[in-house]
Amino acid sequence: MKILVPVKRVIDYNVKPRVKADGTGVDLANVKMSMNPFDEIAVEEAIRLKEKGVATEVIAVSVGPAKAQETLRTALAMGADRAILVQTDDEVEPLAVAKILKAIADEEQPGLVILGKQAIDDDSNQTGQMLAALLGRPQGTFASEVTVEGDSVIVKREVDGGLETVKLALPAIVTTDLRLNEPRYASLPNIMKAKSKPLATKAPADYGVDTAPRVKTLKVSEPPVRVAGVKVADVDALVAKIKELGIS
Ligand code: AMP
Repeated sequence: MKILVPVKRVIDYNVKPRVKADGTGVDLANVKMSMNPFDEIAVEEAIRLKEKGVATEVIAVSVGPAKAQETLRTALAMGADRAILVQTDDEVEPLAVAKILKAIADEEQPGLVILGKQAIDDDSNQTGQMLAALLGRPQGTFASEVTVEGDSVIVKREVDGGLETVKLALPAIVTTDLRLNEPRYASLPNIMKAKSKPLATKAPADYGVDTAPRVKTLKVSEPPVRVAGVKVADVDALVAKIKELGIS
């Protein structure tokens, strides 16, 4: 069974994003970029399934600029077998990514596609669900445990107030939540080895997908600056303060 793992190059989670002066988006000039953290978890899960003998090949895919090659090399250094870069400098929305992934899944016929539950730059939480719909395949989203049993996959899902366990017929789509696993660090020898693993470069047009945006961002703004707190002497003063500020 092949596993397809889509990985997105995003602003590093440790970087505090700065909004561009004209409010059109986040300033990405000279900012550290990394693999979306949920996608690292997806790569780790796919590699573990290969190590268990469940999967035979792990294919990482990224849709993005030439620099997204670095993200794919990270996936290869972690243990993915080969990679596909669908190169574009456009900002690609989840629907277009899902259409490209559908075309790749039609070609590669993976038993599982494991995506992150969301990309931390756009916070869309849409691509996996759209891909499942386009492929007409079952989906197990927000996975905190994934077990392949014969021709099914059992997914423990993180839902409000607890865990839900679902059984999906393969081929299926899974999206990862934070608690699924702790991704490994790539060792230096594996980083070196990854340089010679196959990486194919394609374009969205190769899959017949038009990446023109359907959504227009009207404005991006910084969150309001937090005002300093005050110390109160006792509970009565606290209640008075709450009333004064109209907090309910
Ligand atoms: P989103 O729907 O944008 O929050 O993204 C959810 C997941 O879809 C991500 O965690 C990735 O696994 C995948 N994904 C989204 N955009 C891309 C992209 N440009 N290239 C590869 N994978 C992507």
